[in-house]
Amino acid sequence: MQLELLEVQRRVQGRIPIPHLEVSTDIVTRHQANALPILRFEHIPLELSDLRLVVRQTADIMRRFEALDDADYQQVQHLGRDMTLVEVIGRWYRAGAEKHAAPVSARVAPEPPGETGILDQVLTLAMRPFLSRCAEVLQQRSELAIWTHSHCALCGGEPDFSVITPAAERHLICGRCALRWKFEPLTCPYCRNSDRSRITSFATTDGQYRVYACDVCSRYLKSYDGRRAARPVMPVVDTIATLPLDAAAQQRGYSG
Ligand SMILES: [Zn+2]
Ligand SMILES: [Zn+2]
Repeated sequence: MQLELLEVQRRVQGRIPIPHLEVSTDIVTRHQANALPILRFEHIPLELSDLRLVVRQTADIMRRFEALDDADYQQVQHLGRDMTLVEVIGRWYRAGAEKHAAPVSARVAPEPPGETGILDQVLTLAMRPFLSRCAEVLQQRSELAIWTHSHCALCGGEPDFSVITPAAERHLICGRCALRWKFEPLTCPYCRNSDRSRITSFATTDGQYRVYACDVCSRYLKSYDGRRAARPVMPVVDTIATLPLDAAAQQRGYSG
């Protein structure tokens, strides 16, 4: 299923123009100070017909693999035709982007609720080509090194994979846009626990992949160990290749 979804995303992503993203030391420093991600929803190069297509195709594939039940499928299909699609996506995006931002006194309106459960999954998949395109721009910029938060500098998403570089740094990989950024190797990105005695780590027998599990918040993050690897990390492929590690982590009482 993941490979079919990836194919849909690749096809759409190739058509998306390179977005204009204003990045400078000043801008990143300011966003870093407020923990506020850089990309505003209005600046995502959304093309409505492509967006509709990717929402519908994502739902079709998930339905075929029984990852969506009938009611969810109907809801998503309806959403794909609905005029309010951009509004729903905008709400979903902002909820994710503002989740970890420092409170700003001027922001008096309460945050809108995020989409939950299955719809969140569909929107995450459908928006990936658009957000990844934006991430490609920021990824090239040296100013990204200013960002030290555990949520994504571009879109505010949480990391859902990571890679250990040959220099033994850990880079987190955003679950929404696939941006990679450097983060302390032994600090839990979910609760910031940095007590090493409360981080449990275990690896696959070939040493290719590793899990860092936190004994404070009980969440875990998988990692591709690039220190002795012949190829770079491939988040989609590596996420699938490590499904047995998820089972092992969950068996020990951790959640993803
Ligand atoms: Zn992101
Ligand atoms: Zn934690």
